[in-house]
Amino acid sequence: MLTVNDDQVVYSMGPKNFPVAEVNSGETLMFMTKDCFSNQIKSEGDLFESVGWATINPATGPVAVKGAKPGDTLAVHIRDIETAEQGCMVTVPEMGAAGDIIRVSETKIINITDGRARFSDKISIPVDPMIGVIGTAPEKEDIPCGTPGRHGGNMDTRLIKKGNTIYLPVFVDGALLAMGDLHAVMGDGEVSVTGLEIPGKVTVKVDLIKEKSEPWPVLESDDYWYVIASGEDLDAAADLALKAMLEFLGKRTDLSLNDRISLLSACGNMEISQIVDPLKTIRFGISKTIMKNYDLRF
Ligand code: CA
Ligand code: CA
Repeated sequence: MLTVNDDQVVYSMGPKNFPVAEVNSGETLMFMTKDCFSNQIKSEGDLFESVGWATINPATGPVAVKGAKPGDTLAVHIRDIETAEQGCMVTVPEMGAAGDIIRVSETKIINITDGRARFSDKISIPVDPMIGVIGTAPEKEDIPCGTPGRHGGNMDTRLIKKGNTIYLPVFVDGALLAMGDLHAVMGDGEVSVTGLEIPGKVTVKVDLIKEKSEPWPVLESDDYWYVIASGEDLDAAADLALKAMLEFLGKRTDLSLNDRISLLSACGNMEISQIVDPLKTIRFGISKTIMKNYDLRF
């Protein structure tokens, strides 16, 4: 199995990034990933201010997939996420959703034992590892790894985790898959702007779906389909996610537009992924059980 080392990173996803490796559709490979601070924060004395912005949000890769062309979709099946045993979080004045009331910059080091993040003497959190940054190369311009978009990127969606599949649109030959920014655990919203940031390794199987794509990334879990859209603010993201889900269902069912809107109003779930990145991210989900008579496929 191919392993992509964490010294092979990009800080933006773009069409001109040179692939560090090439794989075939159907192949399984592993990405070693640094944390979002390029592993520079090692103790509570290492403050965010000491970390250079130049090395924020490294994504390991990119890896080219043979035969991938614009208009295709890259299905990335997340087989496993293994994290280190220590991660960090930061709270920084003017950063994140509560930055206006933070007075002092602090770093919190959190150890993981027996599958639980030891937040304090009184609080431990079950880990639920996820991928913050995962994407293909956008068509024209480089997009920094800290920004989400139609190509994926910094979606900070806690359901991008083991067992689930993320379907990413392909915009350039080879697709150019890269990923990083693992979180041992993260809440919806990611209000401080950090999950439990942690290095690790991700095992994925990639499958190319030819000449078929959706305008935004799609996530499949055992029991739900989601579309993941990002916009200037939550209202814009919500509108994009709703329209993307209506389109997704429109291509795969015989339901009229008005019926699809009613269906989503009755049992679709609009959920917040994150509210702290340069664009905000909303996911819209529909239960597979509800849709079972349609046997939805990507
Ligand atoms: Ca992130
Ligand atoms: Ca992060």
